[in-house]
Amino acid sequence: MSAPIVIDPLDFARNAEVLRGKMVVSGFERLRDYLTDDRGELQYSIVGGSGAGTEPSLQIRIQGQISLKCQRCLGTIGHMLDLRTDLLLARDKSELARLDADASVDCILATPELDIAALVEDEVILSLPASPRHGEDECAIDKQESGNTEEGRSAFSALAALKKLH
Ligand SMILES: [Zn+2]
Repeated sequence: MSAPIVIDPLDFARNAEVLRGKMVVSGFERLRDYLTDDRGELQYSIVGGSGAGTEPSLQIRIQGQISLKCQRCLGTIGHMLDLRTDLLLARDKSELARLDADASVDCILATPELDIAALVEDEVILSLPASPRHGEDECAIDKQESGNTEEGRSAFSALAALKKLH
C-alpha cells in the first residue's frame, strides 16, 4: 500500500491546486463489501477552487469500472463510474450546518488532514444504487426461468422436425 495522500482542503482550494491519480479498487476496504471482485482501478481528479458563492470547494471527478453484486442472483453487474461532485468546504460545524440546510449542495467539514482515498471511497459508495440488481433480461434468475421455457420450446421444435422427416 502506498502512503495515504492527505491534503489540507482549505489551502488546496485557496491555491487552486490540482491532484490527479489512480487508486486500485482492492485498496478500498469498505467499497469491497459491495463488489463481486476488486480488480481494476479508479481514476480521480481533485480541483481546488470556490463554489458558486465564495465558499472554498473541491471539484471531484472519479471514473472507472467496478463489479457490483446483484441483490437477486448475487452475480456481477458491470458498473461504470463517472462521478462529478462539487464539494463545499465548511470551516466549522456551524458553517457545516448552514451549508447542509441547502439540499442542493454537498459539503464536508474541512478537517486539516483530509484523506483523499477515504474521500474518493465515500463519494463512490454514496453514488451506488441502494439495491443493485440486473435489468429484466440480464439477471441469472430470469435466465433460469426463461431458459427452461426455451428448452421446452426447442424440444418441441425438435419433435416437430422429426415428425416432418417421417
Ligand atoms: Zn442478477
